[in-house]
Amino acid sequence: MILVLGKGTTLEETERLKEILRSEGHMVKEIGDAEERVLGVVGKAYREGSYYESLPGVEKAVPISKPYKLVSRELHPAPSVIKVGDVSIGGDRLVVIAGPCGVEGRKTTLEIARAVRNHGAVLFRGGAFKPRTSPYAFQGMGEEGLKILREVREETGLGIVTEMTSPSQADLMMKYVDVVQIGARNMQNFELLKSVGRIGKPVLLKRGLSATIEEWLMSAEYILSEGNDQVILCERGIRTFERYTRNTLDLTAVPVIKKLTHLPIIVDPSHATGIRAKVSPMARAAIAAGADGLIVEVHTDPDKALSDGPQSLYPHQFEQLMRDLYVIAPVVGKQVDYAYLDKAAIMKPQSSSDKAPATVVYSGVPGSFSHKACLQFFGSEVPLNNCSSFKQVFELVDSEQAAFGVVPVENSLTGSIHENYDLLLDYDLKIAGEVTLRIKHNLIGVAGAQIEQLERVYSHPQAFQQCREFLEKLPGLDLVAYKDTASAIQRVKESGDPGEAAIGEGAEPIPGMEVLKEGIETNPRNFTRFVVISRNTSLPGPKNKSSIIYSVSDKPGALFETLRIFAANDINIVKLESRPIHSRPWVYMFYVDLEIDIAEEQNKRILEELVEKTEFFKFLGSYNRGAQEKP
Ligand code: PEP
Ligand code: MN
Repeated sequence: MILVLGKGTTLEETERLKEILRSEGHMVKEIGDAEERVLGVVGKAYREGSYYESLPGVEKAVPISKPYKLVSRELHPAPSVIKVGDVSIGGDRLVVIAGPCGVEGRKTTLEIARAVRNHGAVLFRGGAFKPRTSPYAFQGMGEEGLKILREVREETGLGIVTEMTSPSQADLMMKYVDVVQIGARNMQNFELLKSVGRIGKPVLLKRGLSATIEEWLMSAEYILSEGNDQVILCERGIRTFERYTRNTLDLTAVPVIKKLTHLPIIVDPSHATGIRAKVSPMARAAIAAGADGLIVEVHTDPDKALSDGPQSLYPHQFEQLMRDLYVIAPVVGKQVDYAYLDKAAIMKPQSSSDKAPATVVYSGVPGSFSHKACLQFFGSEVPLNNCSSFKQVFELVDSEQAAFGVVPVENSLTGSIHENYDLLLDYDLKIAGEVTLRIKHNLIGVAGAQIEQLERVYSHPQAFQQCREFLEKLPGLDLVAYKDTASAIQRVKESGDPGEAAIGEGAEPIPGMEVLKEGIETNPRNFTRFVVISRNTSLPGPKNKSSIIYSVSDKPGALFETLRIFAANDINIVKLESRPIHSRPWVYMFYVDLEIDIAEEQNKRILEELVEKTEFFKFLGSYNRGAQEKP
């Protein structure tokens, strides 16, 4: 039951009401916000809505329409993010779990772990208890296997995902494991579900071989009803009449699950297909469908694997898959972060007592694209601060009030954001990283508003430019420039005027607002590149890109002389742009991005030669352009 409380209900009254409900054996969850107090109430005893409405403070009681309650979106509208150490499942970064089907020995397991860690996996899988169809097949190494998994965590920092097949293994799971997997064959083993509910560790709940989505969610409900709401759902293929593949991967489950529940969903393309060559295509499709991550079987010598060798990827295939996902992820609003774990380590306090975690600052309000860039680059656990201008971002980083700043520098449709190029010249800060976001714009108005009746549209000027073709078809509209897209949406929400709309992303549904037209950017290949600036903190990952600024003397061939150095040393220029020098009309600075770590010792000579051929030279930083280099 969902209880909407009266407008003036105080905190004390709410607490009293919760007490009453709990004393009757209900589980109570707060699901509203400060503006609207709403309680989700779940319990074994059935009561009519009129009973709840008779309780003090309750204005309206709405039954939850689904048989599953705690897992339903009705009770918990925002998506849940499940934390496993430094890894967040269900956030802006894809989570890829990889490893062998079963732990078979120390050497191979560690070898596989190093390989998958190197190519971007953030959690490690491997069964120590294997539920096999045949009693004569390899049953797993038991506690010996768990000890090997512990060693994997110690050496690589990868959290451990492993299957639990009996409630009697609860103590071992507590001792060795980070995520407890419930296998497809055990999805409806209710005693086991209750047991993992009580263990309290994150649970990876696989869909049963022939389970409906509703049955699957009811199994998740078992775990949540024991008080453990850290459940990750895993679609791993279902049994159909089709026998060419081991199972049939039901990718429709991904959007269906996203609508029905707040729990994250990942996909297992290995068990779904059973055939190595089919794993990567289905993995790519799963991410395109909106999955929060993958669990993939990888083996260095799959022909010798004791289980599921034919569906295990070789490390080089896994590497290629991750590179493909790196490209696909931004299209669906996510990122593959090769430096995920290393980054988390440097963002932590040095020691728990003295130093606060490093903060990141951006310009704009929560929900803006800059905010999203921060979340995609650093994750949601890092403390984020916002301010009201790009200059302030530089100022706060320069004065060491923030360790990092995130600012947009160029858009694929409208070009450079010159203000930030100028600030990069003015401040003595370094570029420490970059992140690219797909920018999808929607026209958002109050619910029921009609495009034809709009008078004014609010947004950032860049957004107007990016939606030029759409706006040209509506010539009577007044375009009002706003600081950023998120505050433009907020402004329209507050005015409630059906004659006003905003252009922005509005990814999550906003109460009282409606997307009047989706995807109005002129070209859907609309990407904005953000740079991460810092005073001196460098970020992990191979540095394969450098940014520099220079000017040359005013004589024929001066610029060519510098470009010749790049050509002679086989250095790829990825961007070259000129900006006027403010104090000297018609004199220019050149901004150059290179595919090389020009600060590296072995490139010192190139750097010296370059400095010699320029009048002014500024090194902005070497950083990781994201995609992993071939080892
Ligand atoms: C496994 O992950 O190795 C496994 C046995 O999976 P499932 O339960 O999906 O068959
Ligand atoms: Mn397996």
